[in-house]
Amino acid sequence: MHELGVRKQIGLVAHDNKKLDLLEWAQYNRALLAQHDLIATGTTGSLLEYELGLPVRQLQSGPLGGDLQIGALIAEGQIDFLVFFWDPLEPQPHDPDVKALLRIAVVWNIPAASNRATADFLISSPLMTGSYERQLPDYTSHVTRRVPGAEPGALS
Ligand code: PGA
Repeated sequence: MHELGVRKQIGLVAHDNKKLDLLEWAQYNRALLAQHDLIATGTTGSLLEYELGLPVRQLQSGPLGGDLQIGALIAEGQIDFLVFFWDPLEPQPHDPDVKALLRIAVVWNIPAASNRATADFLISSPLMTGSYERQLPDYTSHVTRRVPGAEPGALS
């Protein structure tokens, strides 16, 4: 279990064709977002900070590693909620990173919104303003698995 407090760490990312969409959504939900900590990829973060007038922790730009940084924070349990408006119509130079971020959000059972309707449903959930016990999947069998041919002592 991972206890999510009332104040949540929200990761925000939008591809270029989706930035306006995210800015409008964030502006509309500014009062709700102000109750949480915001973390974003570089360009998305600077636009959000400017438009909302709220502090936004800005990582690298997405194609320069920002998506992976958000993913790493998810793996470390430091992001509770992801809003990632990815562009379904335009190939991205960092497509593997996009896939990695979407994948790691599923691995760690993070609520993630890929479009505005989902983001609306999530942000208006009563769970956003209360605490929540997020189930952590049990990966013990994966972490402790024996790798055939590379067991401890394989080199001796
Ligand atoms: P950006 O990155 O916020 O730096 O534009 C977003 C992305 O393309 O992942």
